[in-house]
Amino acid sequence: MKILVVEDQERLGQFVVQALRERSYTVSWAQNCTRARDELAQSPYDAVILDLGLPDGDGLDLLAQWRQTGFNEPVLILSARDTVDDRVKGLNVGADDYLPKPFSVEELVARLRSLMRRQSSVKQTVLEHRGLKMDLLRHTVQVDGQALELTSREYALLEVFMQNAGRILTRTLISEKIWASHYDVDTNLLDVYMSRLRQKVVMADGRPLFKTVRGVGYQLV
Ligand code: CA
Repeated sequence: MKILVVEDQERLGQFVVQALRERSYTVSWAQNCTRARDELAQSPYDAVILDLGLPDGDGLDLLAQWRQTGFNEPVLILSARDTVDDRVKGLNVGADDYLPKPFSVEELVARLRSLMRRQSSVKQTVLEHRGLKMDLLRHTVQVDGQALELTSREYALLEVFMQNAGRILTRTLISEKIWASHYDVDTNLLDVYMSRLRQKVVMADGRPLFKTVRGVGYQLV
């Protein structure tokens, strides 16, 4: 899951970005409207966390533009403006949720998850495939009841497959969901991670979990 954080405050931005990365989200951080606009135009995001008071404009205008141009993913406004009027305005412009500052990071993450769950066709918080079980709330993975230790990127990669079991996923789609920048897409980084995942996730029946589709991508089978 890839999230764009739009926040100009250095410390707060870092704090939110770090909290999300610790939970295996792929995160890009934009500190002004221009950068946020570029990010969203360049790369698909699953959700946006949006501050309103930005150095080169207002987050509400940014949001209005995005909605007009067909960006449909969830947007959560995180703002110090916390009157009822402010919230109503934000929601009317197209925000899906509004969290006033100061906030608890646990609440922020919980709300974000709930927004993305609503958006996704997959509503469960526990994903299962063959003997593999992924608990998105507890952030754990089990194979046939045995806990599996994965790094943050490995977890994110596995989640993309679990959300799309049986579907052939292109290299571009996978890379865009896992890495924040486009620079990584053309490298063999994805193959490196796939081979690690294959080594770690071994099924009891010995049948492979991932199928390589030559020239296209990978499939969870
Ligand atoms: Ca601000």
